[in-house]
Amino acid sequence: MSNPLLNNTDLPAFDQITSEHIEPAIDQILAENRAAIAQRLEQGGPFTWDNFAEPMDAMGDRLDRAWSPVSHLNAVVNSPELRVAYEACLPKLSDYATELGQNEALFRAYEAIHQGDGGGDEFATLSGERRKVIENTLRDFRLSGVDLPAEDKARYKALKSELSQLTTKFANNVLDATNAWSLTLTDRNRLAGLPESALGMFRQTAERENQDEDKGGWRISLAAPSFIAVMTYAEDRDLRAMVYHAFVTRASEVGPHAREWDNGPLMERILAIRHELAGLLGFTNYAERSLATKMADSPAQVLEFLNNLAEQAAPRARQELDELAAFARDAGGPDALKPWDLAFYGERLRQARFDISQEQLKPYFPADRVVAGLFEVVNRLFGIRVTERDGITTWHPDVRFYEIHDRDGELRGQFYLDLSARQHKRGGAWMADCVQRRRRADGSLQIPVAFLTCNFTPPVGDEPPLLTHDEVTTLFHEFGHGLHHMLTKVETSGVSGINGVAWDAVELPSQFLENWCWVREALDLFARHHQTGEALPQTLFENMQAARQFQSGMQTVRQLEFSLFDLILHQEYDPATGARVQETLDRIRRQVAVLHPPEYNRFQNGFSHIFAGGYAAGYYSYKWAEVLSADAFSRFEEDGVFNERTGTDFLVHILERGGSEDPMTLFKAFRGREPSIEPLLRQHGILTDR
Ligand SMILES: [Zn+2]
Repeated sequence: MSNPLLNNTDLPAFDQITSEHIEPAIDQILAENRAAIAQRLEQGGPFTWDNFAEPMDAMGDRLDRAWSPVSHLNAVVNSPELRVAYEACLPKLSDYATELGQNEALFRAYEAIHQGDGGGDEFATLSGERRKVIENTLRDFRLSGVDLPAEDKARYKALKSELSQLTTKFANNVLDATNAWSLTLTDRNRLAGLPESALGMFRQTAERENQDEDKGGWRISLAAPSFIAVMTYAEDRDLRAMVYHAFVTRASEVGPHAREWDNGPLMERILAIRHELAGLLGFTNYAERSLATKMADSPAQVLEFLNNLAEQAAPRARQELDELAAFARDAGGPDALKPWDLAFYGERLRQARFDISQEQLKPYFPADRVVAGLFEVVNRLFGIRVTERDGITTWHPDVRFYEIHDRDGELRGQFYLDLSARQHKRGGAWMADCVQRRRRADGSLQIPVAFLTCNFTPPVGDEPPLLTHDEVTTLFHEFGHGLHHMLTKVETSGVSGINGVAWDAVELPSQFLENWCWVREALDLFARHHQTGEALPQTLFENMQAARQFQSGMQTVRQLEFSLFDLILHQEYDPATGARVQETLDRIRRQVAVLHPPEYNRFQNGFSHIFAGGYAAGYYSYKWAEVLSADAFSRFEEDGVFNERTGTDFLVHILERGGSEDPMTLFKAFRGREPSIEPLLRQHGILTDR
């Protein structure tokens, strides 16, 4: 019996794949890859692209093609059997990746191609994208410490392993501290202002969690939906202050269970280790190490970028805070706003000023029409045609399959579109690759395939599925990632599509495409009332625009506070003085914050993005990518939002090039200059002089 996950050269056979196929297929591919690599290395040089790098690429591709449908099924039609098989493979895949990353002979073989050991200067004759693959591979090998002298290598490994334990502990402390706190209220009056949905959530939590006690009442927890609901809606100011205090002291020396869960000492040690690791690799500090794989050149460049934004956004942020304070006083609120008042009065002000809700817009966004509108928008921009293809097997009857052809009628990509939320499907929206574009050794071309997944609310009763404007934007966002993956012309999988694209540049195409959800010319293509066919009324449209800019100054300075804190903490670390975490944060707040938190605030102790996630010295990436996408879009504002020439330029310089070039070079080729922060500031309403 053949295993449908092995040697699949066409689309995954979703009607045949079962959980029993998964582990044997992965085991077999890993074993065959290991044997082939060992044999090739034993054979020795000369190493060339054709006899070494290409076969390595093909082996990686075969593994990806087996694993991507598995990982996708696990996310969208999860079952106990599937989960067991999926989880059994995870450590095997991670061991395999680590093994390759630490294989010095493998590193030397790539180095040999780079240095032209095959005789002559092969490297110089390789195409740009192949050179880029070799360079990236060597860079990543060096960054994993493979090139270090024996003693340093051992030290590097020990530090890495300690770091991984500490970051896991950091995340666990945040989780445990979050879960440990709760407040059960039995007096309904204290919950005044909270919507029914929040009360239902508190009630449910009380019934589930209050095991030994009375199961009545409403139980508030520190989980995000609960915390946000209290901050936004609870009229009881003392209640808000209490929940705020609990939230911002989590996992700190001033919170409960300080002895077990204080992240303070962990932050010190994590920063010390990162600094030492960076030093072993030849960097002055960890910020430099982090930027080695990113679009930004240096910490100084990022700092200038952030400071510049902060300077521009601060006046508007202060003005917004003053407006909010005046509004709160008029509403009988406090004389001086505290952090636990911001979301509460912010929501009231938003409602007073823009009585627009997602519900009002929904009738104008029937799902089918929005999808058709999206395809029309990308047709006008890039000349591509999206057509549905029937008869393709999928994992659920709701899933649709499409093909993309370009102006010349060439098939460029294919994708599965899975829009509705359902049971056993992971929440959120994402694009994942199913097949990479690459030129095979036999000369044939592998066409890229994408999974586009959303979780839109299924239709109620006889109404067609209607989307909120947020959902429309999400669809455009993910489709932007999809186009980056599918429209690539790069033929080496290491840098085709989104592969090898720097972290701080990868959100450019996705955020870029969102812009067409906000312009009249594009909305007129699809935003029509599902019953009357009426176009989106101008008043609703204008309200939507104004609401988009609401409190954007305050939001911007808050993001900048986090970004600056993260970067400076990693850049200025000094073993002689330690990390000075609180001191650094206080200093940055004096510079950019408009409202200073109380002394007990230990926000940093729960900042998992940088202490437990992949954002260390990289949190700025959010803003960086926003600047790129707003600036790229501004060329369309200048030339016309459906200008064909401009669309083609974006296609040719950005979407088709994947990771084959430095992102700054690509951006400049499209925009004709370096990125400017002004378009983003205008989009946020921070700059209004044009
Ligand atoms: Zn994204």
